[in-house]
Amino acid sequence: MERETMCIQAGYQPKNGESRMIPIVQSTTFKYDTSEDMGKLFDLEESGYFYTRLANPTNDYVAAKICALEGGSAAVLTSSGQAATFFSVFNIAGVGDHVVASSTIYGGSFNLFAVTMKRMGVEFTFVDPDCSDEELEAAFRPNTKAVFGETIANPALIVFDIERFANAAHAHGVPLIVDNTFATPINCRPIEWGADIVTHSTTKYMDGHDATVGGAIVDSGKFDWMAHADKFPGLTTPDESYHGVVYAEKFGQGGAYINKIVAQLMRDLGPIPAPMNSYMLNLGLESLHVRMPRHCENALAVAKFLEAHDKIAWVNYPGLESSKYYERAKKYMPDGTCGVVSFGVKGGRAAAEAFMKELKVAMIATHVADAHTCVLHPASATHRQMNDEELLAAGVSPDLVRLSVGIENVKDIIADLENALDKVQI
Ligand SMILES: *Cc1c(COP(=O)(O)O)cnc(C)c1O
Repeated sequence: MERETMCIQAGYQPKNGESRMIPIVQSTTFKYDTSEDMGKLFDLEESGYFYTRLANPTNDYVAAKICALEGGSAAVLTSSGQAATFFSVFNIAGVGDHVVASSTIYGGSFNLFAVTMKRMGVEFTFVDPDCSDEELEAAFRPNTKAVFGETIANPALIVFDIERFANAAHAHGVPLIVDNTFATPINCRPIEWGADIVTHSTTKYMDGHDATVGGAIVDSGKFDWMAHADKFPGLTTPDESYHGVVYAEKFGQGGAYINKIVAQLMRDLGPIPAPMNSYMLNLGLESLHVRMPRHCENALAVAKFLEAHDKIAWVNYPGLESSKYYERAKKYMPDGTCGVVSFGVKGGRAAAEAFMKELKVAMIATHVADAHTCVLHPASATHRQMNDEELLAAGVSPDLVRLSVGIENVKDIIADLENALDKVQI
């Protein structure tokens, strides 16, 4: 199947007389005829449903669709993108372990790693995604368990060199985890470039309508845990908390990582999505392939308009030929990047704030990457926990305005920007 067809049909095939749409199985629990039947499920001897915290059919249909879109072997949904990011790393790195991460990742991921996971005993080394080979090499330690990056960094819009980081990770016997939220599998499939695990905040383009917060983790099934058994004892030695199961043996290379997340991390920490939310996420996925090209087309027109405007100091959009990342974006995302454009208004922080007050079509919102055009000043919102040094390392200058271009008629979006810029005094 092509991706467009997967958006509509993957993950759920109704049988004769069954509902055409995925059913919403809004039930916490599932009934069995005998205790033995249920016991087999608890022993992981048979697959089936018994409690929604561990698995639910609606959630599974949608996870299977995202898995197909990314070209993975197994996937699980989480209640937020943050939960997906956390589980993707915590599933293979615990106290005493170390992870190499790109310094330009989403602010929430940065805090999770640098503050909360650090407190849990996991150390992170943040590297500039455009660092030299020597610097990248020097970031690895004997206890490094993973490398983490973001296809298109939110909000710095830096395009991650997936192939390069995958090669470095593999040379050190560890997987590459890529947050593919901004590109979506419509524009980029990181697994095709060597990524081993892909994460999503489905809250963004996948849902696409400001309706539900959610996340997803997809395993490529390509990383050979057993070949690096000493590094990943959680997957390659018995889990005493689950009848001594060895995930890599029981579920094989394609199923071990996701089954461990479900059996262990979901069991103990519990961030599952509500089936109703998964149903709504699925509605978003059914039009993802139609919306993404429009987001990209509108964003490119907006970026070109801004670039030509004399009150604009700079524009950053990887689809612009003037972008430092234009060639890299063409390689990884030949059909387009995303709908997010960042820029600076001449006059810095104060001018940016004055300009934003005049916007009417573009609404001020923390949100990004959905059907509605919205705008944000990260230094005073999403990234306000960061000091100036951290802001610069994250690729966020104090004057940066992040414009998430929606799928309205682009003439209205540009007219709105033009009107607001006319009113700003520099
Ligand atoms: C929003 C976002 C997240 C966090 O997702 P939530 O659904 O808000 O928890 C992670 N990564 C990226 C790139 C994001 O944009």
